[in-house]
Amino acid sequence: MGTATKSIQHLIATHGTAFADTRRSAAEAMELIEAISPDIERHTAAICIYCTGVCCIDRHSHYDLSDRIFLAALGLAVPEYASKTEETAPCRFLGNCGCTLRRSLRPYRCTWFFCAPLLDHIVAQYAPSAYRRFMRTLQAITETRTRMICDFEEAEAKIRGGRRR
Ligand code: SF4
Ligand code: SF4
Repeated sequence: MGTATKSIQHLIATHGTAFADTRRSAAEAMELIEAISPDIERHTAAICIYCTGVCCIDRHSHYDLSDRIFLAALGLAVPEYASKTEETAPCRFLGNCGCTLRRSLRPYRCTWFFCAPLLDHIVAQYAPSAYRRFMRTLQAITETRTRMICDFEEAEAKIRGGRRR
């Protein structure tokens, strides 16, 4: 785990009130992610099982800044992993029956990425209104996470500004 992750965790843990909005946005995003997860899994179960070029390679298991803020705001640690896996090797979190992590613990790219065959399957499965609802939920997750990052940056700037005075 990098220093940046530790400092984000420390900042949020030691300034609970200042990061109340960040934590609220993260909790909202987590609820939406877990709510849409069974739907996504229904589609991946039908399509990914036949895939010959599985996209779960190790490069995609990296947690970016927004993932690290998200987990820290929820009081969760970034899942540990050995650092020596090749970027193009199967993802360290990939098990025999798919991803071993709960969806909200995965990097967010693992939730919003749909390859063309998967997306075609999703479109074919839904009536237009249900498809729009599905896409709206994904959009809401992205917007909520974007708000979470803004909340975090605002609170962080206030704290750092306060320290300089
Ligand atoms: S999302 Fe697409 S590329 Fe990735 S494992 Fe499933 S079918 Fe394969
Ligand atoms: S869905 Fe899971 S196994 Fe696939 S890349 Fe993401 S973390 Fe790795």
